[in-house]
Amino acid sequence: MVDLVIKNGLIVTMDKEHRIIANGSVGVEDGRIVSIGRRIKVEGKPEETIDAKGKIVMPGLICSHTHLYRGFLRGAPLKIEPPTDFSQILQRTWWPMDEAMTREDAYASALISCLGFVKTGTTLFADTFSGPNAITGVLDRIAAAVEQSGIRGIIAFEATERRTHAEGAKGTRENERYIRKIKKERTSRVRGMFGIHASFTVSEELLRYVRELASRYKVPITIHTSEGLVDLYHNYERFGRRTVERLCDAGLLGADVVLAHCVQVNDDELDIIKRTNTKVAHNPMSDMLNAVGIAPIAKMLSMGISVGLGNDGYIFDGFENIRAAFLLHKIALRDPRAISPMEALEMATIRGAELYGLENELGSLEAGKLADIIIIDPATAPTPIRPESVVGHLVNTITGNDVETVIVGGTAVMRERKLLTLDEQETVKVARKAAEKLWQKLGAIRR
Ligand SMILES: [Zn+2]
Repeated sequence: MVDLVIKNGLIVTMDKEHRIIANGSVGVEDGRIVSIGRRIKVEGKPEETIDAKGKIVMPGLICSHTHLYRGFLRGAPLKIEPPTDFSQILQRTWWPMDEAMTREDAYASALISCLGFVKTGTTLFADTFSGPNAITGVLDRIAAAVEQSGIRGIIAFEATERRTHAEGAKGTRENERYIRKIKKERTSRVRGMFGIHASFTVSEELLRYVRELASRYKVPITIHTSEGLVDLYHNYERFGRRTVERLCDAGLLGADVVLAHCVQVNDDELDIIKRTNTKVAHNPMSDMLNAVGIAPIAKMLSMGISVGLGNDGYIFDGFENIRAAFLLHKIALRDPRAISPMEALEMATIRGAELYGLENELGSLEAGKLADIIIIDPATAPTPIRPESVVGHLVNTITGNDVETVIVGGTAVMRERKLLTLDEQETVKVARKAAEKLWQKLGAIRR
């Protein structure tokens, strides 16, 4: 028997044909989509029916690169000399924060960030956490928050050797520990992967070791790559290679590797990325915030490189990130055709799934796939919402606040804007208390 039917919706499937179905229905059974179309056959009375008349039905958004804990620095009045470049941003802002993080901060920040994802329609994300004083066991605390929220996450500790080699080994051990643990619990919505901070903070040995482990456990690897010039200069100076060339020489690259950012990459490096079927997570809003430059995304798309959309821990509303990706490359290339509305949407859905090898399970609404579905109420849209206009509206009109219902694996986590898994007031209270303490540690506010 069908558990759930969503009927009368304007369905944006994000399937290969980019099918858009007016007055369409989706049938869900045991957490998966069993039927989708203008008319679907349903035997017996479904347990639940949602009338999506006048609403948009689409796959849950996928955030390909985030740092849940970074939400804690939002608005922090840090008393630091204003950084003049990306290296100083890392040294003066992020690295002191990393060192101040505790396991409970990791939990509280994950919870509030997941709340942000739920409310704005993101149902899967890939996160890396960094905190040298909260390594062992931290992934269990982050996973607990994700499980509580009801959405899906791929999580990792961000291994780095910026202080000691032992720290890199310990971070990698935490990933291995969590991956082994998760393998036993196959039903979990939270998966593991290997995270490496960036090539300029790790040795050749660590790159090779992580590659070996990822192949052994069959999980993805993610690494910040040529986000700022520091990565490029470091590799030039020490290895006589550009960043992607060095990663390739170390044997790291492949279809299971997601390179975050790829701002400072040239055509030769793009050829390597394409040839090795390596994936890219684009973070337009964070790249703007950190003033690192503009990644050649339009070129990557024209080459057939898989590009997903991330927020890098900055703005958790996926629709804002979609809009940023849609706009940024137009100004960069002075070409309004640079990224189409459909390409921008694909980055936040099916391509995101592709990045982590989940394209047969998630990223589009098709029979057989997991039922991660969002329903959007475009009540305030100023012009008609029709099959011909809906993609334009999703990119130019809709915000996360228009997301009304969020379903993950057939189970609603938000229904008509009512949160079903998290207590918003309590989550905000816990997060603010933990963030206040962290700000005190960082000297941003008085005790
Ligand atoms: Zn990042």
